Amino acid sequence: MNWLDIDKKHVWHPYNSLPSKTKLLAVKRTDKTFIFLEDETKLIDGMSSWWSAIHGYNHPKLNEALKKQVDIMPHVMFGGLAHEGAAKLSKLLVDLTGLNSVFLCDSGSVSVEVALKTAILYQKAKGKEKYKFLALNNAYHGDTLGAMSVCDQKNSMHSIYGSYLPQHIFTQEPEFGFDSDCTSSIKHLEEKFKKHHEEIAGFILEPVVQGAGGMRIYNTSYLQKARELCSKYDILLIADEIATGFGHTGKMFACEHANIKPDILTLGKGLTGGYMTMAAMISSKEVSDTISNSKIGVLMHGPTFMANPLACSVAIASIELLIESSWEKRVQNIEKIFSDELENAKGIELVKDVRNIGAIGVIELKDDSYAQEIQDYCVKNGVWIRPFGKLIYSIVAYTIEEEDLRKIVRTMIKAIKAIKS
Ligand SMILES: *Cc1c(COP(=O)(O)O)cnc(C)c1O
Repeated sequence: MNWLDIDKKHVWHPYNSLPSKTKLLAVKRTDKTFIFLEDETKLIDGMSSWWSAIHGYNHPKLNEALKKQVDIMPHVMFGGLAHEGAAKLSKLLVDLTGLNSVFLCDSGSVSVEVALKTAILYQKAKGKEKYKFLALNNAYHGDTLGAMSVCDQKNSMHSIYGSYLPQHIFTQEPEFGFDSDCTSSIKHLEEKFKKHHEEIAGFILEPVVQGAGGMRIYNTSYLQKARELCSKYDILLIADEIATGFGHTGKMFACEHANIKPDILTLGKGLTGGYMTMAAMISSKEVSDTISNSKIGVLMHGPTFMANPLACSVAIASIELLIESSWEKRVQNIEKIFSDELENAKGIELVKDVRNIGAIGVIELKDDSYAQEIQDYCVKNGVWIRPFGKLIYSIVAYTIEEEDLRKIVRTMIKAIKAIKS
């Protein structure tokens, strides 16, 4: 039996039915910014595997780091034991973020769970019973229970899973656009804080770009206000930079655009350069001290594969590679090329909005019924993208060649123009 037939019969894919409702492409291998299918079709990767493969695939330095580590120690439990990789990685993260206390866990969603639990414990340690979170409309923070409960309420997760999800408090998302005026959303935010601050443990948001909930870019004034209000009411500001982190918006972390520091930061996706599943929850010293010095005393969480040494080794290599490379200049270049090429999408009948920042380019359509058609067209023409709904978008590795990036955008635009409505 062909392995793809086995897959179709037995294997779940993300947000899908079994068998898959959509066509699955059989991948044989990857190289740099390309995906090769079983039949040797070569696709330019316009997704960087969901924001993760920031250096492209099969980078010699990252491959080397993993090969070296596997012979030394593939894994060891983290309960009661410590190892150099976790310490080295944590120090890198502390130096980059200006925060202090690092929890290394398995996936982005889990790091969000740990962030939420940390906020609850912090408040409890201060003698406050606060079990609600404030979150934004259009937010996406992951697929596990706690993370889902702070995702946008109108999306299918809340409607599908119903009362299984804890109820939290939501506020109007910041106005659209990096240069937008956030007066109205800030007014709403102030009202939510005033009304609910006694029950809110933390305010969670994706700084500057709301990712999977709509690829919405917004102004930094909103983040500055969020920081101010959180400090005023002793509510923890949780910045979810699982998507935006490690340079995707042109800054190492999107919070830097607003010159603010969160109390808790979550990182994932690009952390290991797309090699291994690993994420981090990083907090200020104030947060970890408050919990540790209280009657509670401990952060009650501890996954089996916490601080996995293989993942640590490749994360260290990825961060060192990023710092050594001229990533800022590369991302600036990518931003320029995206701006330049996306200009050609403006004015197309089906196009509602065109926007980009850093290594992210987005075309929003007026209609959500063409995603599959557009993807098929792009694949036929050598480009891998995975649109969702109205959003035809690309996030690229910082190592992509200019001509490949231009081809991605040009093919997306051709695909939209080819639609027969
Ligand atoms: C992808 C993502 C998550 C979830 O990360 P997983 O590794 O998929 O669990 C959480 N928050 C944001 C902002 C994300 O983009």
